[in-house]
Amino acid sequence: MISIKDLHKSYTTGSNSLHVLKGIDFDVKEGELVSIMGSSGSGKSTLLNILGMLDEADEGSYTLDGVTIKNLNEKVAAQYRNKFLGFIFQSFNLINYKSALDNVAMPLYYQGAKRKERNERAMHYLEKVGLADWHHHLPSELSGGQKQRVAIARALASDPKVLLADEPTGALDSITSREVMELIQGINDEGKTILIVTHEDDIAHMTKRIVNLKDGLIIDDIQVNQIKASINV
Ligand code: ADP
Ligand code: MG
Repeated sequence: MISIKDLHKSYTTGSNSLHVLKGIDFDVKEGELVSIMGSSGSGKSTLLNILGMLDEADEGSYTLDGVTIKNLNEKVAAQYRNKFLGFIFQSFNLINYKSALDNVAMPLYYQGAKRKERNERAMHYLEKVGLADWHHHLPSELSGGQKQRVAIARALASDPKVLLADEPTGALDSITSREVMELIQGINDEGKTILIVTHEDDIAHMTKRIVNLKDGLIIDDIQVNQIKASINV
């Protein structure tokens, strides 16, 4: 599904250059649930942003679902992002003045779906994350965990090939974090390929594979016995 080879990325500010990714090789198969770990500043978000086509590498190759991602103009990149990728962020990134339903329906608008279809599909995904009854509420009326569930429904709405999550539990307490991870595990059990950036060990252990980044390189890449959340709510 994802294949990257010898990926490099530097940031230049003024006369300083910071070599953040120093030759990353990384493959993800369809259906995997992978966490990318590493201390703050280790380049996790940089890598995820490149995978998410929000940023471009300086060197190396990236293939996503058989498509070479290189030198795409903004319009084509946006089309691929819409078709291939769903994003989940630490800070949810919901639109504050729109209801949960309208937030989830948003990507479908950009895909050109008609209102009725948008709303039906958005409701379907809100049901999936357990928030059907909350569809008319604004983000400000929802808890952190509920907001992240809405964001997950939104990421799923366009049925992307891959879900990319940057610290999806970073703003949540530990119980809510486990609940959100349990939801993500369930989505992966249905076959969705998911990558999660985290710096929390217990979150990483709820995935099936942990990739450790340090000093711009992958220092280990291990399969783990996934810990399934066991919360009774
Ligand atoms: P992580 O997500 O692992 O905390 P990042 O990928 O966000 O790390 O950042 C890696 C390094 O690159 C950090 O030192 C950060 O300050 C730097 N960095 C990230 N984005 C930029 C940018 N747009 N311009 C300059 N430096 C950046
Ligand atoms: Mg980060």
